[in-house]
Amino acid sequence: MNSIQSPTYLRGPVALNHLLLQNFVQKGSKAIDATCGNGKDTLLLAQLVGAAGHVFAFDVQKTACLRTSERIADAGMQKRVTIHQASHELIADLVPSPVAAIIFNLGWLPGGDRSIITNPETTIAALKNSLTLLQPSGLLTITCYPGHGGGDEEARQVSNWAAELAPNHWHVWRMGQMNVATDAPSCIVVQKVNNHADA
Ligand code: SAH
Repeated sequence: MNSIQSPTYLRGPVALNHLLLQNFVQKGSKAIDATCGNGKDTLLLAQLVGAAGHVFAFDVQKTACLRTSERIADAGMQKRVTIHQASHELIADLVPSPVAAIIFNLGWLPGGDRSIITNPETTIAALKNSLTLLQPSGLLTITCYPGHGGGDEEARQVSNWAAELAPNHWHVWRMGQMNVATDAPSCIVVQKVNNHADA
């Protein structure tokens, strides 16, 4: 499916995330899916950057890279996507700046091995590296899953890290559905401010 579908329902953070990305990712730009999993976010980014843009997708699991590759091939978009079976701390080594959007969707691979999850140490290292790649007005979005073992600690660390970012350089938002369990997934969005003058 090659047309971009706007979500009908705002259920959970991914729908809001996708709406924001549709506004901020321009045709011809570069974007990164730092946890490609089943490839749904990679596909959205590939649609948004268009044939003149490029998406770099990362995942440590072969299964995830294969599923993403299949989804992208089905959409006929192989030329605009590069998939790295590598840990996302390497993004700044493998992707040239500037980048319009970087997505982290943490936790485990849906329909996959639940013992393989993102972990706070590598996640925070990768988030720090991500900031070096973003272009002004570019977005870093991080969906956290505090409901599973380990995910709560990771969500806490990501939240603490994001809250400390200097407000004159970064606009930091948190988004979470309120009428659900307190440990339901939620999303943090970081936007780079254009302030070359005092950077
Ligand atoms: N965005 C995906 C879901 C991501 S699930 C979708 O739309 O389907 C989280 C993914 O993070 C899993 O596939 C897991 O293998 C991957 N992952 C775990 N640690 C990682 C790391 N250090 N670097 C990159 N990916 C990692």
